Amino acid sequence: MGGPELDSLIQIFARLPGLGQRSARRIVLRLLQSPESRMVPLARALAAAAAAVRHCSECGNLDSHDPCTICTDIERDRSVVCVVEGVGDLWALERARVHGGLYHVLGGTLSPIAGTGPDDLNVSQLLARVAEGGVAEVILALSATVDGATTAHYIADRLAPSGVRITRVAQGVPIGGALDVLDDGTLATALRARR
Ligand SMILES: [Zn+2]
Repeated sequence: MGGPELDSLIQIFARLPGLGQRSARRIVLRLLQSPESRMVPLARALAAAAAAVRHCSECGNLDSHDPCTICTDIERDRSVVCVVEGVGDLWALERARVHGGLYHVLGGTLSPIAGTGPDDLNVSQLLARVAEGGVAEVILALSATVDGATTAHYIADRLAPSGVRITRVAQGVPIGGALDVLDDGTLATALRARR
């Protein structure tokens, strides 16, 4: 349409979640209406984030610091670790301000169909964290899917010998729904009513 640069830019946007060809074209047009004030800052921000942001080596969160801002926050309760599937879930819980402890990001759920086994997730890192001591409770905040339930069961089994208290967020988490799409009130209720 307007040369290879424009085409590839539109294709990159079109592959992002929630966007398609039509939205991608609108975004690119909007950016090009004022390249200096819209496009150049976006390009700089993307380059800066790509260079600086890494997974936290302790919890798996994304941050430009390692250990991340949450892991190094001395105000947080280090004895409670909330296990989530992805960084989006961690962000959702942080937005809802319902958890004052630390997190552990698994990086997915066990899934026989997708071929995801324990070694593909950050399970051994979680076991190591608990084995180090200082953790009194592990909250399993996994989605209410079959895979989420399987994963929660597996982790509870693996943690059982450590004697750590294991709780799960209460339902109110819709079947098949990830934490990220829940409103803050629902999240707060689910976490407070853990058992
Ligand atoms: Zn961290």
